[in-house]
Amino acid sequence: MSAAGLSHLLGASGPLAEAVESFRPRAGQLAMARAVAEALELRGRLVVEAGTGTGKTFAYLLPALLSGRRVIVSTGTRTLQDQLYHRDLPAVGRALGRPVRVALLKGRANYLCRHRLALARGAPELPALGRAARLALARVEAWSRTTTAGDVGELESVPDGDPIWPQVTSTRENCLGQDCPEFRGCHVVEARRAAQAADLVIVNHHLLLADLALREEGFGELLPGADAVILDEAHQFPDTAAQFFGTRLGSRGLASLARDALVELTRAGLLDAGSRRLVEALEAASAAVQRALAGLGERVDWGALPDAALEGAQELERALAAMAEHLGAPALEAPGVRQCGRRALEAGTRLTAILAAEAADGLRWADVGPRAFSLELTPFEVAARLRGHFDARPCAWICTSATLAVDDDFDHFTRRMGLETARCLRVPSPFDFEQQARLYLPQGLPQPAAPGYTAALIEAALPLLRAAGGRAFLLFTSHRALAEGTRCLRAALAAADRFPLLVQGEAPRDALLRRFRELGNAVLLGTGSFWEGVDVRGPALSLVVIDKLPFASPDDPVLKARLAGLEREGRNGFLEYQVPQAVLALKQGVGRLIRDPNDFGVVMLGDPRLRSRGYGRTFLASLPPMPVTTDAGEAIAFLRRHLGALAPTGTP
Ligand code: SF4
Repeated sequence: MSAAGLSHLLGASGPLAEAVESFRPRAGQLAMARAVAEALELRGRLVVEAGTGTGKTFAYLLPALLSGRRVIVSTGTRTLQDQLYHRDLPAVGRALGRPVRVALLKGRANYLCRHRLALARGAPELPALGRAARLALARVEAWSRTTTAGDVGELESVPDGDPIWPQVTSTRENCLGQDCPEFRGCHVVEARRAAQAADLVIVNHHLLLADLALREEGFGELLPGADAVILDEAHQFPDTAAQFFGTRLGSRGLASLARDALVELTRAGLLDAGSRRLVEALEAASAAVQRALAGLGERVDWGALPDAALEGAQELERALAAMAEHLGAPALEAPGVRQCGRRALEAGTRLTAILAAEAADGLRWADVGPRAFSLELTPFEVAARLRGHFDARPCAWICTSATLAVDDDFDHFTRRMGLETARCLRVPSPFDFEQQARLYLPQGLPQPAAPGYTAALIEAALPLLRAAGGRAFLLFTSHRALAEGTRCLRAALAAADRFPLLVQGEAPRDALLRRFRELGNAVLLGTGSFWEGVDVRGPALSLVVIDKLPFASPDDPVLKARLAGLEREGRNGFLEYQVPQAVLALKQGVGRLIRDPNDFGVVMLGDPRLRSRGYGRTFLASLPPMPVTTDAGEAIAFLRRHLGALAPTGTP
């Protein structure tokens, strides 16, 4: 596609403007589309930071579809996967005036497994799950008779986290593959077939990594045929890859193995006292590790594990080996039982790899929850492995996100990705931040580690909350600060403050966001998942308050090991890793405010280190070009000017 052709398609009177009501031509979008078209043509490597409002999805979808090549688009979240498939791609298809062969491929856990549904019907422990589980199973059964795609999202009456889903969906470990009696009507197989026949396939980073590493049998068939891979939300890719290239053994997987083994043995008429003892030994060893880990915190360094946990892990290794030997015997007629034997063998191999790992293999640690644990081996860096995969496949590799650069520098991202030779392009947001936003840095707040910091932050934020009449996100860097901030704000509110508070944890995330949009004057207090992927347009969100610079917890064992690794190489882990990571996280949080050319508002950053420490300059230089003020009166006047009649007459 020529440069002029793209200008027309993305222009004010082009077909996209006709097909999409809210479409506006943007110079940055056109520049990105041209760069993507060139990378597709040359099979090059391209990294694009596209500021909020660039319209980056059209900027890559359009050249991808026009190229006539086979393209894989990978996203970080299921929400974006669905949005691309259901909203953006049909719009581009309409604009081009021709149908496009597109497929949406999700992970296995998103498709009904007919074989496991049959097993669940006869599962010995289902009656113990009670009425709710039986009702959910009945709903799944009724739906299974009508669905064609088997996408579990279709069944709205059984929500996402319902415990029935793991019982009626498959994992790589428990899928019987070609031995499965339901193989011909399998929804997972069908979805993959459709993906192989499509010109453009939308996957997510986990699936793409599985394909890269040939981790899925019958998979690994997408990439060899692809001419280009586009990674959207690419800032998440290095961490997802680190999880993926690591080794992990989790208690939930062990519990599911024990349950499936009992079901399959019962079904095959092979459940005797000996095999029952093997399953019980596995459950007992897993429970012993869980007991030994209780109370140690959430992420525990291997060196801090008590002897009882390590002894329990060795017992687990023996239990898995015994189970693998007994159930995996080739003479056994039942494929489901043999598959459980293979799963035990594979789990045992992973556990052995973790127990025997050397320091250079990565970091060993335990992830501990109240009812589950996992033992983990995480590689320190994934760049070399990713680079190997990129080099092995002569297709275009294109990465994009709203947050990839630190100040103007892409080094942090390209180094972590093994994409040092990629062309890098920064497309600034088209929004007029000079007019639309203010960055307010309050003066006189204590250091963030000081007691009373959160209370002081809330006190400083309150006049702005009143001026905005609510309409705010308060984003915290930890659950502890969120709880304290909530307590302080509730205590400080006066009778005249009529804005409702919505607090993370008091309702599901999507319900809180829906309520926030509906109310129009609410204050939402959240952490983690509210920092990114949230799009609230209009005056309902006019103020974003961020408590601290979002440095990862210094106690995190993975972070500590990564920093130690950098120090050993003579590099400065703080400046080269922690600061850039925190800058990218801050850009995500700040990016919640201005989502539209008509949006306006104030970002308040409480952390005094922004001005007192040298690295503060890097943070400020990386943010959109908002006029900065340290004067609360100026920030309040800005809010009042824009909110006008909308702001209620609270007590300022
Ligand atoms: S092939 Fe695997 S995913 Fe498909 S129905 Fe059988 S067990 Fe389930």
